Amino acid sequence: MNVTVFSEHGKAHRDNPDVLRQHPAGIHETLKALFSGAGFDTTAVYQDDGDDGSMLTDEILDKTDVLVWWGHCMHDKVSDALVEKIVARVLCGMGCIFLHSAHLSKPLRRLLGTGCTLKWREVNERERLWVTAPAHPIAAGLPEHIELESEEMYGEHFDIPTPDELVFIGWFEGGEVFRSGVTYNRGKGKIFYFQPGHESNPSYHNPLVRKILINAANWVAPSFEIGKPAECSCVAPLEKISGKK
Ligand code: ZN
Repeated sequence: MNVTVFSEHGKAHRDNPDVLRQHPAGIHETLKALFSGAGFDTTAVYQDDGDDGSMLTDEILDKTDVLVWWGHCMHDKVSDALVEKIVARVLCGMGCIFLHSAHLSKPLRRLLGTGCTLKWREVNERERLWVTAPAHPIAAGLPEHIELESEEMYGEHFDIPTPDELVFIGWFEGGEVFRSGVTYNRGKGKIFYFQPGHESNPSYHNPLVRKILINAANWVAPSFEIGKPAECSCVAPLEKISGKK
């Protein structure tokens, strides 16, 4: 399975010791090591300041089975042409995992069709992540809840369509709750949005969070070869049709 990780890695991250402490070579490299370590053939690309996303070339995208997307400050720089290519490939079967502040990424908003806004607070508070769908493959091998000592609060209302499945609910020390793990089907593609992963917090080093991300990659991955976009076609009947007029 080919996994492609796309993440911001601009000056705001490269010059921030709090980010570098968690991700010395950037979030994309942390995630690449995570997925590579699980045996996936993983490519990582990053968006520098001002980049339009073109480092995610057609050649890379066309062999991607699972696209993992982390973004924050540069969503609007991503070209609409790239967004359309991503959406088209999802509809044909490519899986997508959108992480943390990628809730406002162009591809996710385009796929979900809502604003994807939420409430937030950045004071490094405790999060308790509850499993709400214990039989879901993304929750395989997890305890009832996971404690994250330090995360950014994301709170309801989260402006998303009603999820196909709600896999995790996050509770925060300050009192809010959030639909922290949700799935969608779009066309032949599967999508998972997962809230933890603020750039200066250690969530992607937590073994249970890593398990979730690996489970998610396996779950969103297509079980078939990704083809071309479907077209409407006029077809001959399978059975002889009696002569009604
Ligand atoms: Zn954040």
